Amino acid sequence: MIVGVLALQGDFREHIAILSKMGVDAEEIRTPEELAAVDALVIPGGESTTIGRLAEVYGLIGPIQSRCEAGMPVLGTCAGMIFLASSTADGDQAQLGVLDACVRRNAFGRQFDSFEADLEVVGLDEPMHAVFIRAPWMEKIGADVEVLASVIDTEGESHPVLVREGRILATSFHPELTGDERLHRMLVDLVDDI
Ligand code: GLN
Repeated sequence: MIVGVLALQGDFREHIAILSKMGVDAEEIRTPEELAAVDALVIPGGESTTIGRLAEVYGLIGPIQSRCEAGMPVLGTCAGMIFLASSTADGDQAQLGVLDACVRRNAFGRQFDSFEADLEVVGLDEPMHAVFIRAPWMEKIGADVEVLASVIDTEGESHPVLVREGRILATSFHPELTGDERLHRMLVDLVDDI
């Protein structure tokens, strides 16, 4: 099994490192040909407008959409989650539209620009320590999107920060920065289930 990590911008090296530590063959992906060779894809955190623009330049939007529609497992973290979604609350940018969600970028505001929290995650016995860096949240999600973890904002409102739709997993936070392998394990398990 090969897990590709979209390596256009952002913290793709951290994802490669955690997958390699798990003993998974992880490859940097920059072209449609490289994408065709992988069984699953990670889209890293970084800056989502840059990732989107570069994905257009490299001709990757259509090929990633086709693989997602054909059932390839995907994990998108932070900017990766924004890129997977169908729209943003903030304006237009290149997105894949394979995750039925509208996301708000930098949603936690200045006071909580970056923060850490222990999250209860559906299906996991122990909480997950989550690092949020200028993180988005889900503003609206489609009926087929399952919420696996949420965060409550300063107004007491709950916002999804980890969701699953079919074989697509998306997080507002950065599992690749805490050494917690459980979300990458979920991704690999989705490949094994095919
Ligand atoms: N704020 C970034 C964006 O909107 C995402 C931040 C991140 O990936 N850590 O693209």
